[in-house]
Order: sequence, then C-alpha cells, then structure tokens
Amino acid sequence: MKPVNKVLIVGGGIGGLCAAISLRRQGLDVDLIELKPQWTVYGVGIIQQSNVVREMARLGVLDAYLGAAYAFEDVAIYGPQGQTLARIPGQRLAGPEYPANVGISRLALHHVLSDTAAALGARIRLGLAVQSLEQDGEGVDVGFTDGSQGRYDLVVGADGLYSQIRGLLFGDRYQPRFTGQAVWRHNFPRAPHIDHLANFQSAAGNAGLVPLAGDLMYLFLTSHEPDNPWMEPGTLAEQMRARLAGFGGLIGELREQIQDSAQVVYKPMEVVFVDEPWYQGRVLLIGDAAHATTPHLGQGAGMAIEDAVVLGEELSRGGSLADQLQRFMARRFERCKFISEQSILAGDKEIARDHGFDRIGLVKGMLARTAEPI
Ligand SMILES: Cc1cc2nc3c(=O)[nH]c(=O)nc-3n(C[C@H](O)[C@H](O)[C@H](O)COP(=O)(O)OP(=O)(O)OC[C@H]3O[C@@H](n4cnc5c(N)ncnc54)[C@H](O)[C@@H]3O)c2cc1C
Repeated sequence: MKPVNKVLIVGGGIGGLCAAISLRRQGLDVDLIELKPQWTVYGVGIIQQSNVVREMARLGVLDAYLGAAYAFEDVAIYGPQGQTLARIPGQRLAGPEYPANVGISRLALHHVLSDTAAALGARIRLGLAVQSLEQDGEGVDVGFTDGSQGRYDLVVGADGLYSQIRGLLFGDRYQPRFTGQAVWRHNFPRAPHIDHLANFQSAAGNAGLVPLAGDLMYLFLTSHEPDNPWMEPGTLAEQMRARLAGFGGLIGELREQIQDSAQVVYKPMEVVFVDEPWYQGRVLLIGDAAHATTPHLGQGAGMAIEDAVVLGEELSRGGSLADQLQRFMARRFERCKFISEQSILAGDKEIARDHGFDRIGLVKGMLARTAEPI
C-alpha cells in the first residue's frame, strides 16, 4: 500500500491549486481548504517563464493555460529612455511547438487552475482554516474552523508568506522580512510593440511592461521605501507617477495616464526562507510558505508550481513517506534557495544604486539554472 493516499492542502493560491492538480493526477485523494470565503484574486498579471511553461505541460493544463495567456519569446532590457541594452532570446522548454514565455492575468490563471483542480476531483472548501493539527506515526488529525474534522496521511501547507502551517511547525523562527522596496503595478491596453517582456532600468528603480492578452499589458515599477511607509490609498496614483518621474519613452507616456488610485496595486516586498527541511513528520510546506522571495526574477510562483509538480512525482514513487519527502527536498531546496537569494540580491543592488552590477548576467544565470531539469 502507498504511504500517502489522502492529502489535505491548506491554501488555494497558485501553489496549492497546482499541488491539487499534480496529486489528483497521481490518483491521490485531495481536500483543499482556502481561507478566503470569496476566492478573489487581485487584478494584475504575472510573468511565467520557460520553466513554468514546461511544468504547465507536465501538469496537463498547457492548452487551457496558453488559451488564457499571452505567449511571447524574448526578454529585453532597456535604458530609462528606451535604448536597448540587451535582448535575451526565449528558450522553448515545453517543446518547439510551444512558446518560451507567458504573461497571464492572475485572475485568468486562477480560473484555469481552480477549474482544473475541481474537474479532477479535488474537494475544495472556501472560508475555512485549520483549527487544530495533531500528528502521530500513522496520520494527521485536523480540526477545521467550521467544527468539522479529518484525518490525512499528509498535510501540505501552501498558505503563503504569512503561513499559519509554518508557524505550527517552526513557531516564530521564520518571520517575513521587509526588504526595503515595494512594487507598483497598473494595467493598460497593450501597446502593439509590447509583444515581449520589456524591462526598463533607471536610477530611481526598475520598471517593466508585461503583455497579458491581445488587448492588455501591465506596468510594474520597483521603488525604494526604506521605512515601509503606510500608503494612503487615495494617493497611490500620484505617488506612482512621482516614482516614474525619471522615465521617458513609452513608460513616460503611460505615467501620465495613471490617474485613478483604485487601479494601482501597491505591495511592499517581503521575504522568508525556511533554511532547513520544509517538513516535520507528515506536514510539509510548499511555495511562499517555505520560500517567498522578491519579484525581481519573476520566479516566485514558478518555484511554487515546480514544488507542486515534484511533490506529485515523489509521492508516486516508492519508499516510505520520509523517503519521499527527503527526495522532494533534495530536488527543491538548493534550486529555491538560489532563486530566493538571487532575487533578493537584485533588489539589494537596486537599493545600493550599484550601477556596475551585472543584472543582465544575473538574469541569464537564472534562465540557465531554471532550464535545468528539476
Ligand atoms: C509584486 C509581486 C509580483 C510578483 N510577480 C511574479 C511574477 O511575475 N512571476 C512569478 O512567478 N511570481 C511572481 N510573484 C510571486 C508569486 O506571486 C508568489 O510566489 C506566488 O503567488 C506564491 O504562491 P503560493 O500559492 O505559495 O502563495 P499565495 O499566492 O500567497 O497563496 C496562498 C493562499 O493561501 C490562502 N491562505 C492563507 N492563509 C491561510 C490559512 N491559514 N488557511 C487557509 N488558506 C490560507 C491565501 O488566501 C491564498 O489564497 C510576485 C510577487 C509579488 C509580491
């Protein structure tokens, strides 16, 4: 008999939903709980690079995913006035017939993943959290906040940066840390020539344009916010414009169109890395719960998705649960640590205004590493 048949996934974000798909494809019985009673996803987009496209194929969702996304090939890096500094060709890791990279709205991605997980038979319950969790050698007894209970062979904490499950395993040993920067985002109609990921570097921060659909793209900007200030919601448009002051070209034109603060998504950058095995007994962390990093390399969700695929593979191979989780860690730990550290390094160099820093080399190093098989 397999050591794991019944799994509880805590958290219905990108990592939890991909884990539900991956585990259901291996024939495991999956319950997924999500804290939010209404499963809302905020309205900007996400960059998914070639390793993610490859994993979407392995999850068996590639066609639906590509149908909801904007496929593109290259990543370009420009100076603040729009001059080209580098053009990095995409890598078609999912196969020659599939695109290298994808931009997708978070909402569209959520629909693809949640519809697939539900269609595959994952039992999804919303507005629910773990009340109590007690494990013995044979299983984990879980009490839920609605008074119901369940017993599982494995509990997967995919509950994000402020993970409750991480707290249950490690107490307050791992706390999110503010890095000193924040990200500003705003959607726009796609400009016809934004058919690739366009990064713009300036002394004030880095901006970028990401195509999300035929008619949609989003603008992102990183900024230094040393004291993690409270941003009055009604001032976000004005504050985003002010931080884009050093940019000309298309970014400068778009800056003037940022007028409605309700359309600006502001997020301070916070990171955490569990620097030891991400499990104890029958409880495992994946995704941001274990390794939330900054968005500089656009790989946070990518690492959560890879975690989900590898977990499904290892749970379907032989050995005890301890063997399976050790093998999972062997395939995930150093790779996620690399992405985590390199992303944070890029931000630290921006904060230090280190203009000699080889950012293009850093991006190429990330692409080479993530192209490797997991
Ligand atoms: C500004 C910004 C831009 C980014 N851009 C990119 C990008 O371009 N590409 C990329 O790959 N990554 C990007 N990322 C990173 C990416 O968003 C995260 O790495 C990814 O969302 C992690 O997924 P997750 O499922 O682990 O966690 P989350 O997305 O945080 O999902 C956790 C889920 O668990 C639920 N939850 C929380 N607590 C509980 C609880 N106690 N019980 C039950 N449910 C709970 C939450 O409601 C949520 O639905 C970006 C991050 C930021 C901040």
